[in-house]
Amino acid sequence: MSHKEALQHPIFEVIGKSADELDVEAYVIGGFVRDYFLKRGDAKDIDVVAVGSGIALAQKVASKLDGKPEVTVFKNFGTAMLKHQGLELEFVGARKESYTRDSRNPIVEDGSLEDDQNRRDFTINAMALGLNKNSYGVLLDPFNGIEDLKNQLIRTPLHPDITYSDDPLRMMRAIRFATQLDFTIERESLDAITKNKNRIKIVSKERIVEELHKILLTSKPSKGFALLNKTGLLEFILPELTALQGIEEIEGQRHKDNFWHTLEVVDNITETTDDLWLRWAALLHDIGKAPTKKFHKKIGWTFHAHEFVGSKMVYKLFKRLRMPLNDKMKFVQKMVLMSSRPVILSEEHVTDSAVRRLVFDAGDYVDDLMTLCEADITTKNPKKQKKYKNNFKIVREKIIEVEERDKVRNFQPPVTGEEIMQVFNLKPSREIGIIKDAIKEAILEGDIPNDHQAAYDFMLEKGKELGLTAVVI
Ligand code: ATP
Ligand code: MG
Repeated sequence: MSHKEALQHPIFEVIGKSADELDVEAYVIGGFVRDYFLKRGDAKDIDVVAVGSGIALAQKVASKLDGKPEVTVFKNFGTAMLKHQGLELEFVGARKESYTRDSRNPIVEDGSLEDDQNRRDFTINAMALGLNKNSYGVLLDPFNGIEDLKNQLIRTPLHPDITYSDDPLRMMRAIRFATQLDFTIERESLDAITKNKNRIKIVSKERIVEELHKILLTSKPSKGFALLNKTGLLEFILPELTALQGIEEIEGQRHKDNFWHTLEVVDNITETTDDLWLRWAALLHDIGKAPTKKFHKKIGWTFHAHEFVGSKMVYKLFKRLRMPLNDKMKFVQKMVLMSSRPVILSEEHVTDSAVRRLVFDAGDYVDDLMTLCEADITTKNPKKQKKYKNNFKIVREKIIEVEERDKVRNFQPPVTGEEIMQVFNLKPSREIGIIKDAIKEAILEGDIPNDHQAAYDFMLEKGKELGLTAVVI
């Protein structure tokens, strides 16, 4: 059966013609073919395999395209890449690979299409469509990937022990694809991942994190994290999360399982944000609970200062995983640090001054913080759920109200230090800080409005209290 309709884009004919001229076989393979059969929309990445030189094929193709796009050659890998009309085309020569124990980087030899398909990660990623004139649109599917697509199965072309042990990154990829596509990982595969879990150590942190990002960006990340947990991989990658597992009971008092709670929060937040870092914040918002857990006879379980401890742990975690130690990390830290603030607010009567303080402390992140806290509602008690949601709604309304009136987001002191110095004829000194702080406090408390005149009058009063004399008024 021919699948010419998969190859409607004119680029495929150009590749086929180039391959015929060079007298090599060429196939489109991997994600593009899989996503075509899954009807997952138009893929932008196209992987082409040539039985021969992928680099030569890429150059020939480029020479036939309008604008003669540049070909980027990765000589060491025997691959070449070019961009054309928003597509990214990757060319590789068919290869046979053999692996050593301690490296993900194989010894590579030229091989047949079958050799190349054997070294692919999953049956659904090993399907190829012919591009030459005599094979145009013919599907080569030696491992019955089509059937696995129908049955929604992640399965390896070779024995799973070999596939995963050869390149342990594939364990992460299996779980990521299972999450993205909502597929099941075949039993033997799952066992092999569990068995080979400690081989994850030879995979670079960057590649692991790339897969974690992709899992977090799906609509149900809990599926991926549950699989990472079940196979034992999570223990190696994010021990801070596995430490949250379990429910302890002392004297009839139990706390919730913070691991499964966290996964629920992450799933919840996918409904309200696509922001990767806010999703990370949801994943990490409770990590401080494991090291701060204590039981007190009178009050039961506490996690005192877990937000503070958690935000410190974020730094170490990012560093260990070689994630950026930049404003993204600071954002996650801030979310973790403040993650209980709106919650406390929503449980009580919501006062203006508490909302002003929240907006002052959270700055531009206040909306993200509210989104996180709303996702944090995982109670199964419908009455409580309704109450919390409603309280957050009130907090959100108050934020807008307070914002419009008091402008405390990115607060700038209405009276500057210089002005204070001039008025009281002061050199830089402690008093200036005291007065500035008192003004800020008065505004946040709602004692005075956030404007210059009110703050100025307040400054004069405060100066008097401190025994200062105004020289200009
Ligand atoms: P997506 O781009 O949506 O993540 P994809 O299947 O295109 O999915 P890529 O990482 O772009 O994934 O890889 C392209 C193809 O290369 C895959 O379909 C697979 O055939 C092969 N491949 C990628 N990484 C590996 C690996 N670690 N081991 C074996 N084959 C791999
Ligand atoms: Mg791809």
